Amino acid sequence: MSEWFLILLLPVAAWSGWYVAIRRESKDARLLQSRNAYFESLTYLLNDQTDQAVDAFLNFSAIDKQTFSNQLALGTLFRKRGELDRALLIHKQLGKIFDLEEKQRNTVNFELAEDFLAAGMYLQAQEIFENLIFTNLEANQKSQINQALIRIYERTAQWQNAIDLFNKNSQELGKLNLAHYYCEMAEIFRKNNELTAAKTALSHAIVADGSLIRNYWIAAEIALENGEFISSIHNYQSIAERNAAFLPEIIQPMLACYQKIEREEEFFDWIFRQEEQHKNIRLTLALSDILEQNSRKNEARDLIHNRLQTSNNPLLLNKFLQYQSDLPQNALIISLANKIRPRTSYQCLECGFLLQKMIWHCPACYAWSSFIPTLEIKIQHR
Ligand SMILES: [Zn+2]
Repeated sequence: MSEWFLILLLPVAAWSGWYVAIRRESKDARLLQSRNAYFESLTYLLNDQTDQAVDAFLNFSAIDKQTFSNQLALGTLFRKRGELDRALLIHKQLGKIFDLEEKQRNTVNFELAEDFLAAGMYLQAQEIFENLIFTNLEANQKSQINQALIRIYERTAQWQNAIDLFNKNSQELGKLNLAHYYCEMAEIFRKNNELTAAKTALSHAIVADGSLIRNYWIAAEIALENGEFISSIHNYQSIAERNAAFLPEIIQPMLACYQKIEREEEFFDWIFRQEEQHKNIRLTLALSDILEQNSRKNEARDLIHNRLQTSNNPLLLNKFLQYQSDLPQNALIISLANKIRPRTSYQCLECGFLLQKMIWHCPACYAWSSFIPTLEIKIQHR
């Protein structure tokens, strides 16, 4: 009985052997076809026929480990060359393969999100990155995603998201920009007249980075707006202590505070000492303007005259000439001197971007706290 059974099984064994062989052959054929397509597309690429190269890459009939990596690398190459539509096409096509391993799928999604980020499609990139954070990733990929998300949150002004991400990954991300995020929040609260929330955000900013003058600047302005003049003065003084280069920007509102509490002389004593200590031409010129505006022209002239003893800056000389207007024989010189004015510009130390007003986040290179004031000579033609 058992022999008969074995004989009966023989055709089944023969068929299964044939089937396995056919399947292997078919798989081998697919891989061969895939590799041929790969070399075909590589040839197109080398001949700079990128359209044909993309078509050939996208027509792969099968994906093995090698061709997957090559296609992935090709997509990344396109992104680095700025050919974002092609990078997106390749990475989207790879994402459609249904039998990718988890690690491969995460890598494809990561590259796709990088493409969206490079194309400025922040919300699409954000959605993918935020989903990827919860998957099984290698430590360096997780770090890259955190950095990418920070960039997205900054560029789309999602400050609370940026703060939350920093607080979850404080060891990895450090506290480099955290204070600025709190300042951004404080500015928003201030615009919405939510002063308590603005002050709370500022206190977090000071904890994050107590050396950032922006904290004290916002606090000083809020205090001034609300009639808290002593508090405003203290905050302005905190700016002066941390970065005296910005004294010319704050002396007008500081004087206003001192005038409100009728301690104007105290302010002038203090600012003369600052001017003497820092010998900053912008500050000297700004102080001379303030003295003039407050009917103290003689002190302004003496200040400029004294500073000219130690500096030959043409703007100081020009200012000095303007104070000689009571000498009629100098009319031509006075007329010329009046055409020359100091002008402050703000320049990013990272990329050189130039602006006429102070900002904290460079729109060109996205650096924080990178702008410094620079003194320019402006010639009026009329
Ligand atoms: Zn810049």
